[in-house]
Amino acid sequence: MPPLNVCLVSSEAAPFAKTGGLADVSSALARHLGKRGHDVRLVLPLYRRIAQGKWKLDPVPGLQDIPIQLGARRTWFSVSTTELPDSKTRAWFIRCPDLYDREGLYTQDADEHLRFVLLNRAAIELCQWSRWAPDVFHVNDWHASLIPLYLRTVYGWDRMFANTRTVLTIHNIGYQGIVGAEKLADLGFEHAPHLLHQDHLREGKISFLETGLLYADALTAVSETYAKELQTAEFGMGLEGLLRARRDSLVGIVNGVDYDVWDPRHDALIPARYTPKDLKGKRACRDALLAKYKIPAGPRVPVFGIVSRLTAQKGFELVAEAMPVVLQREDVRLVVLGSGEDRYERFFTQLQQSFPNKVAFATGYDESLSHSIEAGADLFLMPSRYEPCGLNQMYSLRYGTVPIVRRTGGLADTVEEWNGRTGEGTGFLFEEFKGDAFLNAVARALGLWRDEKAWAKLVQNGMAQDFSWEKQVLRYEALYARLLGRGA
Ligand code: ADP
Repeated sequence: MPPLNVCLVSSEAAPFAKTGGLADVSSALARHLGKRGHDVRLVLPLYRRIAQGKWKLDPVPGLQDIPIQLGARRTWFSVSTTELPDSKTRAWFIRCPDLYDREGLYTQDADEHLRFVLLNRAAIELCQWSRWAPDVFHVNDWHASLIPLYLRTVYGWDRMFANTRTVLTIHNIGYQGIVGAEKLADLGFEHAPHLLHQDHLREGKISFLETGLLYADALTAVSETYAKELQTAEFGMGLEGLLRARRDSLVGIVNGVDYDVWDPRHDALIPARYTPKDLKGKRACRDALLAKYKIPAGPRVPVFGIVSRLTAQKGFELVAEAMPVVLQREDVRLVVLGSGEDRYERFFTQLQQSFPNKVAFATGYDESLSHSIEAGADLFLMPSRYEPCGLNQMYSLRYGTVPIVRRTGGLADTVEEWNGRTGEGTGFLFEEFKGDAFLNAVARALGLWRDEKAWAKLVQNGMAQDFSWEKQVLRYEALYARLLGRGA
């Protein structure tokens, strides 16, 4: 298809700023669309950690000190760019120290909404100021969800956007960006309140994500199962009615994996490299991981791994129910990397104290350790309450680390239950969000672990899976083509 101008807007992009899968996805999607020949601008805030990082940021001439009025607040932004590593695609950063020179990516500050209003508006304005007409604005999660409505209101006068189409991808509906209705003018909708969700406005709130779901031309969710789940009360988090109404515009596209970054064949962050044919390196990764935490390795003892944000979404109640039992009864190890809610950090700290020779818990955010756990563990736990796509189970498969997952969202779409009769399957799944069901899946996995030959087959099956972006990017391309009325 002829090259398109695609403006991809996200609050996170690896390796610049990442708290979760969104960063991996926006960066990989930008890179792979670029490889397909499209002119892609990946737009994100210039957070303090990026400004102070190692990046060579080039100020864009003509896009400096642009004034912008956000309700009562007048501020200025400038634009700098840098190449996305290993690609010709560039990331475009919105520099506005007034709003972005702060400790974290996200804050609890009273003007948090303005930080993302600016992202949305500056993304549009940088196109205007450089007279670059996007064919597609591809916006991600609540942080960029106002763009479709801005194109019809604040920027509706600019005919440059007359043929621009918008795509909103839902990475996680648990975060909606809900603000009080008194923020109407801050958002720039004081002349267009009738375009917002009327019932919610009367109730005194405005939701960034809901506004995007109302006005984006196409909606995507990050897996087919999640796209279906979102239309139900259990998973839709209040937006299920709207998503059912727009179901003809909603498609599920599973995220790809960036195998340039996540593959034990060439991963520079792990102590030894390995291939499906020669797993000696995996053994070395396992021993190094356990040695790092001074945990006795034992001859052939299974190691469980977890790398996760520590939030209720990820199902740690089930880990708390099941894992103490497993650790008590079985000769196993568990290495956990995660940060987030106190209650879960306390739980893992206590678990480590109760089983000092079996459990290691590392808090904080550690890219390198996350790779080492993927490589060094034998089994990976993701008992999520809900999981829009999930990346770690796909990484695990490639690293020969068998995933044990709840059958929900992207986990259901990417892990296939092991079948002892046919020798097919890649992991272990359970349905009900209950400790027993999870324990049962763990027991099935440990049962198979004792059968070395069958286990080796299971590992090989997983390592042979291909969730590459080269494939997935074609689905986005086809969606853009459909929206623009062009043949793919
Ligand atoms: P989510 O986006 O809900 O957090 P995903 O499975 O889609 O879940 O993506 C999680 C990503 O974040 C993975 O790349 C994972 O390795 C990474 N990650 C999560 N927590 C940490 C951590 N504490 N340190 C390093 N990487 C982490």
